[in-house]
Amino acid sequence: MENHSLLLTVGPLEMDEKILQKGAEKIPYFRTNEFSDINLSICEGIKKIVFTSEDSKVALLTSSGTGAMEAAVINTFNEKDHLLVIVGGGFGKRFVEICETHNIPYTSLKLENGQALSQDMLNKYRNKGYTGVLVNAHETSTCVYYDLQMIGQYCKEEGCIFVVDAISSFLADIYLMDDWNIDITIISSQKALALPPGISILVVNEKTAKKIFENKSKSIYFDLKKYFIDMKRGQTPFTPAVGIILQLKARVDQILDVGVEKIVNNTKEIAQDFRNKIKDFPFNIPSESLSNAATPLQTCGNSSAEDIVMHLVKKYKIFVNPNGSDLKHKLFRVGHIGNLTTEDNDRLIRAFKEMRKDGIL
Ligand SMILES: *Cc1c(COP(=O)(O)O)cnc(C)c1O
Repeated sequence: MENHSLLLTVGPLEMDEKILQKGAEKIPYFRTNEFSDINLSICEGIKKIVFTSEDSKVALLTSSGTGAMEAAVINTFNEKDHLLVIVGGGFGKRFVEICETHNIPYTSLKLENGQALSQDMLNKYRNKGYTGVLVNAHETSTCVYYDLQMIGQYCKEEGCIFVVDAISSFLADIYLMDDWNIDITIISSQKALALPPGISILVVNEKTAKKIFENKSKSIYFDLKKYFIDMKRGQTPFTPAVGIILQLKARVDQILDVGVEKIVNNTKEIAQDFRNKIKDFPFNIPSESLSNAATPLQTCGNSSAEDIVMHLVKKYKIFVNPNGSDLKHKLFRVGHIGNLTTEDNDRLIRAFKEMRKDGIL
């Protein structure tokens, strides 16, 4: 029956069968017009999916999402900038680490685990001369979804560049890049795009691309100027993950075909279905603002989150996301993105029921 493993993680995810099969195709040589057309079509499609103008630029990077986070920051900003970094968990801290490593001045706006960012909190950081704001749309480590529209409005009023790591929120939640004054969008293949890890994507609006062209890059591999120039003819400066690009092309076509709104709504339904069904179990959901992408579950009493995660793998072949360091005994996360149905939720719920009988919950 349920012999296959089930990924209820935030990435890598359950993939669509057709897209999986694409991955078995022979890898073509890529400095060709045919491959250029594929790249160009992906870039056009991605712009439509994030709702930005055709004038925006897209860079396809061969790296995991962190590479794109670093590329976005080091190409756009330098020692003369002062950034405001929203830090609500591990991925916010990663932006801090990037600023530290590259000597870019920053101030952290720190939040408690699970705490949402309010207008009042943000207002304390007005008129301080920040030139950019870095945020993870959905702080995947604690499952907090930030009000991007509110932060975008702040950025517009303060005149700063708004960089959004949308990696785990893109396609799970509505995302309107231009309407929300977002200047740079960061995406990675293994989250809601439901592709293998290996490709990350930057979408940069025209105004910010200009700033990048004026800024001296401190990286060879991540010099975005080269990516923008080469993409004019549909190419990348270095060898891309060619196989994943082919899968990305198929996936972008599929998304445009189905429609972004429908995909977001489907994810929302799966998330709500899970949140309804989990109500009877001894868990808290410790987040003031949830994305559709995942649900954080905090254990009550003596049951250990770490044991639950391990037991789900060992006995049921169900993978959920464990948490690290100080949260590892208390918290784990269940993903709702990827090729899932509510029956997949039922499989997890059945496992929880048995575990409750067995005294593990
Ligand atoms: C997954 C994720 C990343 C990227 O992590 P990689 O392992 O480098 O792909 C970045 N930000 C957020 C919010 C994420 O969920």
